[in-house]
Amino acid sequence: MRYRPRRRRKINSDEPKAFYNGRPIRFPREHAYINPEKFVNKAVVQEDQVDFVPQHNFRDFPLEDRLQLNIKARGYTTPTPIQDAAIQPILEGKDLIGLANTGSGKTAAFLLPILHHLRQSPDHRVAVLVVVPTRELATQIDEEFKAFAGGLKLYSAVCVGGASINRQIAALNRRPQVVIGTPGRLKDLIGRRVLRLDGIRILVLDEVDRMLDMGFIRDIRFLVAQLPRERQSLCFSATMPREIEQLMRKLMVNPVTISVKTGVTSEFIEQDVIRASSKEQKIEILDGLLRQPDFEKTLVFGRTKWGVQKLANRLSALGHPTEAIHGNKSQPQRQRALRAFKEGRVKVLVATDVAARGLDIPGVSHVINFDQPNTYNDYIHRIGRTARAGKQGKALTFVSN
Ligand code: ADP
Ligand code: MG
Repeated sequence: MRYRPRRRRKINSDEPKAFYNGRPIRFPREHAYINPEKFVNKAVVQEDQVDFVPQHNFRDFPLEDRLQLNIKARGYTTPTPIQDAAIQPILEGKDLIGLANTGSGKTAAFLLPILHHLRQSPDHRVAVLVVVPTRELATQIDEEFKAFAGGLKLYSAVCVGGASINRQIAALNRRPQVVIGTPGRLKDLIGRRVLRLDGIRILVLDEVDRMLDMGFIRDIRFLVAQLPRERQSLCFSATMPREIEQLMRKLMVNPVTISVKTGVTSEFIEQDVIRASSKEQKIEILDGLLRQPDFEKTLVFGRTKWGVQKLANRLSALGHPTEAIHGNKSQPQRQRALRAFKEGRVKVLVATDVAARGLDIPGVSHVINFDQPNTYNDYIHRIGRTARAGKQGKALTFVSN
């Protein structure tokens, strides 16, 4: 018999992994039963909404004029609740845990005071490290950083898997002040001695509960061990399981906790279930829904990479221009799919949980859970791709009848 080397399983940094004897292994995350009642929720009717009155205007924060200008140019007129409450303590140098609903502006809540810090003490070493669970989220935060950093002479580098490492090395050699990345690639760059973390003064863990769960905790421990003890640590998420909270607190010193969550899920999402008894029936119902005019931009979540691709093919064959995003695609393919959906060239995107966290896609009208999420927290993040920045949205979850 011909010798065939065992193919090493490709492990994406954004998918759960664990280790045994130093080797990565994968085990399926348990599929917990979630009471279908939890998938039903009425959105707050617009008239019932009490308008949030911020304590601050952006002008009240001691941010320099150019930054104020960039904020305005971005279209931000008043701070969101998390920005209102978190910017000041971050400016004061405090460690901070920021909990706020999906789509409520957590990114700017940390980027704006960080930009201010960087301007106060210009420094030619990497000073800020932002760690996130997916490549797409890293790129998105980088775009937001660049929008705010215009004219400030502050630079960033994105370090994520699936993209040319040489280009990232070149970017790091230009000594950006901010590095945004996913754990696996960051570790790799440290191993190659291209990235050093001993000059980091601010650490941001976005989607922190995901960063500290089984899939990433080892990598995060590795990264944190390289950081100076004296630093500012900032952690953000819309969800915070208790076990994770304890882990997180160990990384921080006397953190201020800001929780401005208005409910478990965003109050702007109308949520309901759809009963179906088979996969074929689910596809039939989905086909019918996608034909309705109000399904302008629909994000469909499936459980497995393979299932997601198959469903995308089926929907395309049924006449719905569809893209798919999952860990079996190359990074350029993933980016292209996301862009086509963002720009409205396709109305349907089918995704694994790789798209569940943090992505800010304007105008998603519906999120559909074709397969149920593993946990209720995963549900919160999936449906949080709609109804962002004060807009309304709908979420539908298939349950068996
Ligand atoms: P989160 O991280 O809380 O899920 P994001 O930071 O991705 O939310 O922000 C969600 C959306 O809201 C983005 O499109 C962002 O540009 C927009 N946004 C954030 N802050 C403001 C603001 N103060 N005014 C207007 N839009 C905002
Ligand atoms: Mg976010």
